[in-house]
Order: sequence, then C-alpha cells, then structure tokens
Amino acid sequence: MPYVSVNPATGEVAATYDDHTPEEVDARLALAHAAQAEWQTTTLLERSRLMTSAAELLEGELPVLAEVLTKEMGKTFAAAKGEVAKCAMTMRYYAEHAERMLAAEEISSPATTSSVRYEPLGVVLAVMPWNFPLWQVVRFAAPALMAGNTGVLKHASNVPESALLLENLFRRAGFPEGCFVNLFIPGSRVADVIRDERIAAVTLTGSEAAGQSVASAAGSVLKKCVLELGGSDPFIVAASADLDRVIPMAVTGRVQNNGQSCIAAKRFIVVESLAEEFMARFSEAMDALVVGDPMDPATNVGPLVSADQRDEVAEQVADALAKGATATAGGHQVDGPGFFYRPTVLTGVTSAMRAGVEEIFGPVAVVYPVANLDEAVALGNNTPWGLGSSIWAEDPDEQAQGIAGLEAGMVFVNAIVASTPELPFGGIKRSGYGRELAAVGMREFCNAKTVFVA
Ligand code: NAP
Repeated sequence: MPYVSVNPATGEVAATYDDHTPEEVDARLALAHAAQAEWQTTTLLERSRLMTSAAELLEGELPVLAEVLTKEMGKTFAAAKGEVAKCAMTMRYYAEHAERMLAAEEISSPATTSSVRYEPLGVVLAVMPWNFPLWQVVRFAAPALMAGNTGVLKHASNVPESALLLENLFRRAGFPEGCFVNLFIPGSRVADVIRDERIAAVTLTGSEAAGQSVASAAGSVLKKCVLELGGSDPFIVAASADLDRVIPMAVTGRVQNNGQSCIAAKRFIVVESLAEEFMARFSEAMDALVVGDPMDPATNVGPLVSADQRDEVAEQVADALAKGATATAGGHQVDGPGFFYRPTVLTGVTSAMRAGVEEIFGPVAVVYPVANLDEAVALGNNTPWGLGSSIWAEDPDEQAQGIAGLEAGMVFVNAIVASTPELPFGGIKRSGYGRELAAVGMREFCNAKTVFVA
C-alpha cells in the first residue's frame, strides 16, 4: 500500500508515494543509528540551538505549513495554524527546559554519593496517526531528540506530505543527517523494524489494534514501549455548573479537529437538574455550526479525514437511531464531494448500540442524563478506556469529588481536556501506558541510570 495524500474536502488525490523498499529501510535505520552515536555527545546548548531554529522555521512559515495540514487531513485552517504554533512552542519549551529535566539528581543513600543520571536510549521508532499530523510527532520528537536520542518516524499512510514536511524541517533546521528519519512503510512492516537491533524503543499513538500489535512486537524483543491509544472521555456537568460557561466548551470539546481527537469529550453526562436545559442549548449550538470548506474562515467543522472514516461514523449513528436513540441535532452526512458529516447530538443511547460502547471518531456527542454526581462519576468510569475526563462545577466539593473519583490519566476542571508541554499526557486502562510531555515524557526514552559511589 503506497502513501496517498487525498484532500478530504474534495476527495481529490494530491500525491502518491511508494513504500520504501527493505533496502531503503535498512539504509535509513543505519543512518539513524550512526547519527545517534554522535548526537548523544553534542552539548545541550547545541541541541537547544537546533531545536529553536526548527521552531523559528515553523513560526516563519506558519500559514504555508498550516495549509499542508488542512489540505491533507481536513482540519480547519485556523486549527492547522494553531497546531503549527503549538509545535513551535513545544520545541522552544524543551529547548529551554531540557537541561533542568536531564540534570543528574543527587540522592542521599547509604552511598558516599549517589545520583540518578538521565541518558538517551538510542534510536526511537515513532508510529503516528494522521489526526494531528505535526503535533503528535513533535510531542515525541522534541523531548526525545533533546535527550540525545534520534528518531525514526513511521507516519500514517494518509499523511505523507506531513511526514516529509517534518523530515525536511529537522534537516533545514541544521540537525545532523540521520537525527530524524522518515520511513514510508505499512503497519504490517512495523514489527520487523521494532525487532531490528538498531531500534532501542518504540512509541505509538493510534488505535488499540495497532497498539496491541506494536506492544507484542516490542514485548517479543523486550524493548521499551509507550502507547497513546483511544478514549471516550466523559464530560461531566454537575449541579453547580454554569451552563453559560459549559455550552460553548461542550461544543468545542466535541467538534475540535472535526471531532477526530483522542481527547475529545465524547460522553456528556449531565445531572438531572440541568439535563433539559443542557440538551436544548447544546443541540441548538451544534445545529448552528457551519460545516464546509476548511480553508474558509467561516467554517467551524471541516470534513472527516476519509470516506471510510465518514462511513464508520454514519454507521455508528444509524445503528443507534435504528435501535431507538434520538438525534436532537444532525444525524446525517452532507451530500456532495468531500467527506462531511453534520455535528450530531444523540440521546437515549444504550450499551446495545455501537454508539454506547465504541469510541466515535467524528463530530457526534452522546448525552446521558443521570440523577446525581455519584451516578455521573460511576457512569464516567464505566468504560474500558481512561484517557482524559472533565468535570464542570463551580462548587469546590463537587470539583473535588470529580478529581478524586474519575479513573483517567487526566482530569480537567471547568476546562476541556488538552495537551500542553508542561503537563504529562497519557492514559490508563485500554487508553495505553506511559506518558508524553513534561519531564516524565522526556524520561520515558532515557535510561535513568543509578550511580552509587561507596
Ligand atoms: P491507527 O489505524 O492505529 O493508525 C495509527 C498508526 O499506526 C498509523 O501510522 C498506522 O499506519 C499504524 N498502524 C496501523 N496498524 C498497525 C499495526 N498493526 N502495526 C503497526 N502499526 C500500525 O489509528 P487511526 O485510526 O489512524 O487513529 C485513530 C485512533 O488513534 C483513535 O483510536 C484515537 O483515539 C487514537 N489517538 C490517540 C491519541 C492519544 O494521544 N492517546 C492521539 C490521537 C489519536 P497506517 O496508516 O499505515 O495504517
């Protein structure tokens, strides 16, 4: 299967790239492996200088690069510009803070002196998804490279232009050849790369099926593995919530990135006293969204990434409606070229329906009224995933109940779940393991070496 870039707003094929041959893959792994030996000897000052120069390139070319994202995966131009800017900000963050994060920690122990040093693991393979085609990669690459690792990217097969953009970016910023290498290979060839002795560790962001396959391959050769998988985040509206604050963020939380975000709010769980008003206002706001050309500044929601992705969402909704659920907004796709789907609000969803048990990767919200906050938290936790969660409440006691009770890698209070370089990002249960971002994310690809001097 080659790499194909299709404009989801029109369905037109923009570019096709052949997969790399086994010989090409071998040459690229050799390059990354050789580069790592040199790269780990560079000073942090030098690594920071190069990372900052990559950030400057992103900032200087922001609209041009953002257009690549919009044309390749359909996110609105405004969202694409935000993604490029966030990548630059994160590169600057690690350029500035890596020295502190990697500094040896002196620890008092029975030794005369003892410490923990953070050293690079080697070449890290990153298997990445299409939904944030720059951000997912940068949030692995910025800390991993600053720590002295080199990176090999296997990007999703529908975002080749983004993959090449990144490889060129690091080269143009002045990183030595081999520090960041792109592979065009299908998922079926990833296990072979993981087993290659030049690869030290692997990180994957994507579906559970891909996670299982990557974790199995990593396990078979006992290599470090970080997994960022799916989720069905609860968005809990408690009795003390301020709906004026909640409604616009409920909409953004569900339709950001055209509904294709792992940390999108997907299940809206609302206590009885606010349920009727929430449903009416939320449905009205979702109905008012403009769906269309993602390059048009008036557009709120662009297309889904592919016809397959759009059809999958349409089937999940149709299944719910056929089994007795109600759509109080949307509930159908949009005719014409491109892969558009109307923002949708479903109620009356049960576990007998696909929408009641599966992650919906599109602009479809499922609303559940519940009697009280105890029930809300219990329902929020009644899921195989545990990525993000949010609780909306003005009362500190209700906030505290959500913070303590929600089983997830992240809990946000009166805010939608988001990633930011200062804070660890990741999940529990079937949402994966390990963390990205912050110091903990950087140290996932370090050897925390204990030093004991008698
Ligand atoms: P996907 O099919 O798993 O694709 C992700 C990456 O894995 C792609 O590069 C894909 O390559 C590769 N891949 C697929 N099957 C593989 C296999 N058997 N072995 C090795 N690699 C394999 O995921 P998706 O459907 O594009 O993305 C949506 C999913 O990602 C959702 O569940 C979403 O929640 C999750 N996600 C999670 C996070 C997070 O941070 N937790 C962030 C974003 C998305 P090909 O394209 O060549 O198949």
